[in-house]
Amino acid sequence: MSAAIVRSLAELRQLVTGWKQRGETVGVVPTMGALHQGHLSLVRAAKEGCDRVIVTIFINPKQFNNPEDYENYPRTEEDDAQKLEPFDVDVVYVPDGPAMYPEGFATNVSVGGLTDVLCGAHRPGHFDGVATVVSKLFLQTQADRAYFGEKDFQQLQVVTRLAGDLDIPVEVVGCPTIREEDGLAMSSRNLLLSDRARVWAPELNAAMQDMADGLLAGGDITELRAKATARIERAGFTEVEYMDLRARDTLEELDTPTRPARLLAAAWLAGVRLIDNIAVE
Ligand code: AMP
Repeated sequence: MSAAIVRSLAELRQLVTGWKQRGETVGVVPTMGALHQGHLSLVRAAKEGCDRVIVTIFINPKQFNNPEDYENYPRTEEDDAQKLEPFDVDVVYVPDGPAMYPEGFATNVSVGGLTDVLCGAHRPGHFDGVATVVSKLFLQTQADRAYFGEKDFQQLQVVTRLAGDLDIPVEVVGCPTIREEDGLAMSSRNLLLSDRARVWAPELNAAMQDMADGLLAGGDITELRAKATARIERAGFTEVEYMDLRARDTLEELDTPTRPARLLAAAWLAGVRLIDNIAVE
């Protein structure tokens, strides 16, 4: 049976109240739609970990620092509902933009430190938008657990921090990145790649894997970064925003993987911004 699509907060609250009265646990999977296997892996984890599962689909205008990116973001609600069908989730929550941000909405949730670097430095306001909408979704769904992908590693850290700092009683669960067979991290934005760009896109992950191996073998980060950058530029990437080694938990910059670390990168290919990250441990 297909899940109920709920568009109003009042209706969502009524359902959640009933579940909570019966002592059922609630999981939430926040998404912006254009669902792929990465999203569905979170849904699977939520179904395994919780009695009730809410998938939210909301293309959050506040987290787009570029209006064109917001306009072009894929919108595939019918397809999304079909993809969710086999999972038998309890609710697909699709809130309405003006209901999320009515006139006079004036609150901004901003997580310091973690958001100064990487995507935070390159996309002004992005993480405030994420933190604000995720706070709202946590409070609206009253979820006991929330499932996020490691694909957006910095986002996962930011969301974990905000839930802790604001004493929101939700456990943030991080789930591994799901990839295409050629190594490209699945992303809704991959739909925007031309056929030609799609062929070259996996070079980002391949170059990162090489760089991670070099770092673990004691190589020099400046040389390894230059080599990785040259490789992806040969594949048609035009701008490498960052390719950094960072401490896994604090995102402090590292030169060598002396503690659990992550290699994170963002780069543009044919007008599409791709991000990826891998463990260096
Ligand atoms: P989005 O719809 O892009 O905002 O993503 C919604 C959630 O799905 C976020 O927690 C993402 O980190 C997660 N996600 C996106 N792509 C992947 C992937 N390839 N593997 C695992 N999780 C993912």
